[in-house]
Amino acid sequence: RAKSEGRNRACAFDASMADAVNHRRRLEHDLREALSRDDQAAPLGLSLAYQPQLRLSDQSLIGFEALARWNHPEFGAIAPDIFIPIAEEAGLIVPLGEWILKEACTTAATWDTPLTIAVNLSPLQIFDGDLAHHVHDVLVRTGLAPSRLELEVTEGVLIQNTDRALHILRRLKMLGVSIAMDDFGTGYSSLSYLQIFPFDKIKIDRAFISDLERNGHAKAIVRAVIGLGHAIGVPVLAEGVETESQLEILRSNGCDEAQGFLIGRPMPQASIASYLSLWAHPASTSLSQTSQKM
Ligand code: C2E
Ligand code: MG
Ligand code: MG
Ligand code: MG
Repeated sequence: RAKSEGRNRACAFDASMADAVNHRRRLEHDLREALSRDDQAAPLGLSLAYQPQLRLSDQSLIGFEALARWNHPEFGAIAPDIFIPIAEEAGLIVPLGEWILKEACTTAATWDTPLTIAVNLSPLQIFDGDLAHHVHDVLVRTGLAPSRLELEVTEGVLIQNTDRALHILRRLKMLGVSIAMDDFGTGYSSLSYLQIFPFDKIKIDRAFISDLERNGHAKAIVRAVIGLGHAIGVPVLAEGVETESQLEILRSNGCDEAQGFLIGRPMPQASIASYLSLWAHPASTSLSQTSQKM
């Protein structure tokens, strides 16, 4: 009896694994379809959301980070933490990344104020073809000033092939775009990478920010990263700021910039104009209340 129960359990396990594999295959297929229909127009169901970034010294808006969104016709919203890895494994991250870059630059070029636009790069994009040439091409075609584009990379980029990655990142910097190190503190060997590559900004991962009020170590780490950034002459941005008290701790410890739900949730392009006008005329409403969930 025990044996047959065991077998049934094994079958149920296999079935759910098969379901997961099939679901993944389906997503991969649909993503490929969506991207293949890109004839200048937006690929089916794909869009970008824009999350504001705040400068703490004068409370001014710096710019927005572009975040990929996929609204699947059948399954609804699929998180980028799900579909970006699928795109990477299916060999689709290059066309997807190209669409994201073009869309983000096109949108930023329409803004009345010269705010920056930050775009995430997958490690695979960095090593594919001639990225610097492609970025240059997109800047020329969209008319966006290179100084307004910031590319976000994670340490993973530098781990695989440090020399080649350095070469490519330096070429990108020569275009006049800046490079931010994303999710700082979650990988490893961060310090040696900071030493060999001159990043223009450090983004502290939100894992440390969410623990700021509760955990004395998180506070010490955040303070140390801010000090580290300043020691090498680089501004530090805190990711995932959700509360006034987190913002106050960051400000009192000299953090330069902040991003998170408190300042604004990722919003569709259509909401940016009203967000900007509200920013210019704050009135009585708090900015964090104005941005909708997306
Ligand atoms: P990331 O680049 O570190 O982006 C920040 C993530 O934190 C975003 O999640 C954002 O929505 C979320 N976030 C921002 N503020 C808060 C907050 O106050 N609280 C909490 N809990 N979360 C906050 P999202 O949009 O789900 O993206 C997740 C990750 O997927 C990104 O992390 C990035 O690694 C990747 N990703 C997103 N868009 C792209 C893209 O266009 N290209 C590539 N290669 N990766 C992308
Ligand atoms: Mg990012
Ligand atoms: Mg991040
Ligand atoms: Mg991330």
